[in-house]
Amino acid sequence: MFDVVVIGAGPAGLQAAQTLGRMHRPTLLLDSGSYRNAPVDAVHNVLTADGRPPARLRELARQELRAYRDVQVSDTAALVVDRHGGDGFSVRLADGSSAPTRAVLLATGLRDLLPDVPGMAEQWGRTVFMCPFCHGHELHGRRVVVEENPAARDLVAMFEPIARSVDVVPTVTALAKRPDGLHVSSGRSTVVVDGLFVHVEAEQAAPFAAQLGLEMRDTGCIAVDSHGRTSVPGIFAAGDLAQADDMTAPVHSVLAAAYAGQLAATSALQHVLHRRDVRVTS
Ligand SMILES: Cc1cc2nc3c(=O)[nH]c(=O)nc-3n(C[C@H](O)[C@H](O)[C@H](O)COP(=O)(O)OP(=O)(O)OC[C@H]3O[C@@H](n4cnc5c(N)ncnc54)[C@H](O)[C@@H]3O)c2cc1C
Repeated sequence: MFDVVVIGAGPAGLQAAQTLGRMHRPTLLLDSGSYRNAPVDAVHNVLTADGRPPARLRELARQELRAYRDVQVSDTAALVVDRHGGDGFSVRLADGSSAPTRAVLLATGLRDLLPDVPGMAEQWGRTVFMCPFCHGHELHGRRVVVEENPAARDLVAMFEPIARSVDVVPTVTALAKRPDGLHVSSGRSTVVVDGLFVHVEAEQAAPFAAQLGLEMRDTGCIAVDSHGRTSVPGIFAAGDLAQADDMTAPVHSVLAAAYAGQLAATSALQHVLHRRDVRVTS
């Protein structure tokens, strides 16, 4: 029986596993191998890891986990989380096995829903981005356009001290990377730039929130309190997939996910502690 099964091994799940490992709690960390930032060569705005490949960041985190013998890491997808009445949960895995556990920490992230525009999938994370905090500085002194959206004016203002030029373009209909830059077409008009910023919708990457009937926010994120507790006792959530009640909008970054993972792990530990009788010696 595990104390906690952590589903997802991006920054949120990796940090949660480290926190639980340091407390010597039997923990299973599951990873299906699909990460939101997989298309990028480097993550930015991450203390001590600015510019590091995201795969290297995860590799280093896994190396650190080896110090904690109570943490078992498995590159296996979870399929279903079953409730066991008052006795916790059982996580059914893709290899046919099941992992019984007192608590489950969901850290499965979001899946980006890229618009069906020729060239978009190829350029996503390379010359097309969403977050100026993550990929703005790398475009300093270069040509940037922002696709029209409610936040476009703010993005333009953010890029004024960074980019050589920044403009808003109407809905993008095609993209092509050529030697002179990224060709961004909106209908018949095309501009040649170095970077394009767009707003992209996202959805839960895994089915567990729906399976468990968790309360959701309008943003499509799982509703959690500031310590990662969901609407179902024993189920915790951290990272991009969750939104705390004190957040007006979800915050999606490596450090925010790791921070949420740490807090949710402490909540999961509290849950486990409060389920057992504590022996008091006189
Ligand atoms: C293009 C792009 C670039 C970005 N660049 C930056 C940046 O430079 N700096 C920054 O701070 N942030 C950046 N971000 C945001 C950052 O990547 C996310 O905020 C962060 O990865 C969220 O971490 P997470 O742990 O919640 O989810 P993820 O990192 O997406 O990890 C999800 C985990 O869940 C696992 N999983 C999913 N389903 C299952 C299942 N059924 N069973 C088992 N495991 C499962 C996956 O395999 C993975 O291990 C970027 C995002 C994008 C889209």
